[in-house]
Amino acid sequence: MTSDVNEREFELVIVGGGPAGLTAGMYAKRSELNAVVLERGLPGGQLLNTDLIDDYPGLPEIDGRELADRMAKHATKFGLPIDTFTVKGIKKLADGDFRVTTEEGPVYRAPAVILTAGGTPNKLEVPGEEEFAGRGVSYCAICDGAFFKGETIAVAGGGDAAAEEAEFLTRYVEKLYLIHRRDQLRAQKILQTRVFENPKIEVIWDTVIEEVLGDLKGMTGLRLKNLKSGEQGTLDVTGLFVFIGFRPNTGLLEDHAEHDAGGYLISDRDMRSSIPGLFVGGDCRSQLTRQITTAVGDGTTAVIAAEKYLTELKGAKAG
Ligand code: NAP
Repeated sequence: MTSDVNEREFELVIVGGGPAGLTAGMYAKRSELNAVVLERGLPGGQLLNTDLIDDYPGLPEIDGRELADRMAKHATKFGLPIDTFTVKGIKKLADGDFRVTTEEGPVYRAPAVILTAGGTPNKLEVPGEEEFAGRGVSYCAICDGAFFKGETIAVAGGGDAAAEEAEFLTRYVEKLYLIHRRDQLRAQKILQTRVFENPKIEVIWDTVIEEVLGDLKGMTGLRLKNLKSGEQGTLDVTGLFVFIGFRPNTGLLEDHAEHDAGGYLISDRDMRSSIPGLFVGGDCRSQLTRQITTAVGDGTTAVIAAEKYLTELKGAKAG
């Protein structure tokens, strides 16, 4: 392995410190691999945006931030370093190593990388959304919910995140409109039931948000359109939380890797991507569902596959 003096060398670089990355890191250190996790913020990923987690086996009710903290402590207990940097690019070099660059400057080099970088929330991309971001429009219920105490707000989306976060927000708000573009929710049945049974939530079906309205003080309402009737109207709300899925953070790859139409990386059953030495797990991997439990499983498989790859690589070099 040859490198610049400024490059930090590891056997394995794990990009992203959510449940998948922290699990991979924990197992890597238990296997005594020289591994590092690179995470731009606090470790925990989407856990940090989740209030109550009630679908992690063995922990029937746990706060997302607490689970994040426990996962990070569990991984570091085995000696895992978690470096706080924003990864800018991942490139496979001619000698087979990966070069991982960061916004802050430090460069990492390793023969294997596990990409567990999650995703970035989708935006509605309608007029007013950007203008009123932080002044009514939000993408994080835990971060901003308390600002809307006693108010009337809206949530956009029909998936697990929209249903779960809408329910969470009703602990603060007086009334909440869940605005969905179709006539049925995509969310799991248990989450749907909670939404339908919550007296503070009213679902507005078949409807899209065309504009976020407001004045100098902040957001005042939404301009809506019913997709079935074509009817347009306005809704007086002082907040809008947008939960309409997210884009996987796979744009960090500087080389082409096989992906699906949504940009999620395609892997085999051992989490190998189409680039040898690059493994993938969690929310940036193409798969049926994205749960904490599946992310943790992905991280486990990815690191065991990476370890096998590193052993074979060493064998090939020695032979
Ligand atoms: P998602 O499952 O992809 O759902 C996105 C929702 O937003 C869908 O209802 C979709 O409508 C709607 N949507 C998408 N683009 C839209 C647009 N431009 N305008 C209006 N509506 C739009 O995303 P998610 O809810 O963020 O969840 C992401 C992943 O995390 C999923 O795999 C989910 O299962 C998982 N997750 C799990 C939990 C949990 O288990 N407790 C909690 C949160 C997230 P259509 O239905 O019409 O497509």
